Amino acid sequence: MAVPKKKTSKSRRDMRRSHHALTAAAYNECKNCGELKRPHHVCGSCGHYDGREVAAAAPAATA
Ligand SMILES: [Zn+2]
Repeated sequence: MAVPKKKTSKSRRDMRRSHHALTAAAYNECKNCGELKRPHHVCGSCGHYDGREVAAAAPAATA
C-alpha cells in the first residue's frame, strides 16, 4: 500500500483546500420579462432565450 513519505503541513493542506470553496451561482436579468435567470439558460418564467420563445412559459416558476 502506498503511504505518504512526509506529513502534509498545515500550509500545504490549506493551500490545496483553497480551491474547495463554493462560489455563488451567477444570475442575469431576463431581457424579455426581467426575471433573474442563469446565463446561457432558458428563462424559467417566460421560456425565452436569445430574444425568442424556445420553451412553453412555465405556470409555476421552477428556478
Ligand atoms: Zn423571462
